[in-house]
Amino acid sequence: MLMSSTIDIANSFAITAPAVRVQSIDEGHINDTYMVDAIDNTHYVLQRINHGVFPDPQGLMHNFKLVTDYLHGKLQSTGYHPLTRRVLQLIATNEGEPYLSTSQGEYWRMCPFIANTHSAGHVASTQEVYQAGLGFGDFLAGLVDFPMEQLTEPIAKFHHGPSRLAQLSEAVIEDRADRLKQVQCEVEVIQKHTDLLQQPQHWIDAGRVPLRVTHNDTKCNNILLDNETGEAACVIDLDTVMPGLALYDLGDLVRTSACLAAEDETDLSKVEVDTDRLRAAVSGFVEGTRGVLKPFELQSLAIGPTYMPLIMATRFLTDYLLGDSYYKIDYPQHNLDRCRNQLAVMKCLQEAEAIVLERIHS
Ligand code: ADP
Ligand code: MG
Ligand code: MG
Repeated sequence: MLMSSTIDIANSFAITAPAVRVQSIDEGHINDTYMVDAIDNTHYVLQRINHGVFPDPQGLMHNFKLVTDYLHGKLQSTGYHPLTRRVLQLIATNEGEPYLSTSQGEYWRMCPFIANTHSAGHVASTQEVYQAGLGFGDFLAGLVDFPMEQLTEPIAKFHHGPSRLAQLSEAVIEDRADRLKQVQCEVEVIQKHTDLLQQPQHWIDAGRVPLRVTHNDTKCNNILLDNETGEAACVIDLDTVMPGLALYDLGDLVRTSACLAAEDETDLSKVEVDTDRLRAAVSGFVEGTRGVLKPFELQSLAIGPTYMPLIMATRFLTDYLLGDSYYKIDYPQHNLDRCRNQLAVMKCLQEAEAIVLERIHS
């Protein structure tokens, strides 16, 4: 579909020739993403940042620019060879700005389209999961020396257990949508896991695990794989890059790739772990980090696969109690079903702990 206004937006960026065609890319659920074709046969990805999900688009773009510039600077200096063949890069506007902010309050960015790649969908093969692990691990390792104090938090306390727990407790007290009586059991299960939700912050406070620059949305569809070789080609979707823990990135990859049931599957007997994919995610990630993780940090990865679904269950339940103000829902119980599903994922990923430890010590 041709959208003249989107073409105008595309032509606000400093591309080599005028944009002539814009098509929507329907993958990805947060931003509006378009593929742009220019008359000289060059191709770009244009994205409108979702202002609803990201309250601070300027802060987000500040991180995006710093991190991608840093990696490109490192690429040009000797001795740094990322495992992926490409690192995302912003194309400036005609005014030389890293992104476009319009008078309507929209924020747009543009990057080169990475050709001959695909992103694995919801069900990635074992090999694709391994490659995703390699790519995300490599991304973390590439940013090991990055001056982290320069980064903002595009979403405050994104994977922070104590804050997510506090938000749930507030929602329980308020019981705004009069749903608490329905979800007492789920609230109890989550509260019983307070220790797990607090563990990462305790480790940070005690200086046992270091903050890293993490991606924080390590699903297989956020990494592009080479169409011919199947190898990780480029880490994308840098919206949530901020200081975090390595265990978040491994944990979210395992959460989203080692359980094949959909995140809102209500038949919980279908929620099970695919051990091959679990091992592939762990091996890929650990190999990708190429020795930068400290010994205790490596061990800390073991709780990632249960921590991340617990974080998600807590967020879904909070949103359910608040009357569904954050996540899009298709039916009234959708967030509750997602919460129950993620609690089931957490339960079946308990076996992941031993598998991660075994992999680390092998
Ligand atoms: P969202 O935050 O909405 O998930 P993404 O940045 O992940 O947005 O982009 C959505 C989809 O667009 C990706 O899953 C991928 O298929 C495609 N895509 C994004 N950036 C590029 C790129 N530079 N080259 C090729 N495809 C891309
Ligand atoms: Mg995405
Ligand atoms: Mg995103």
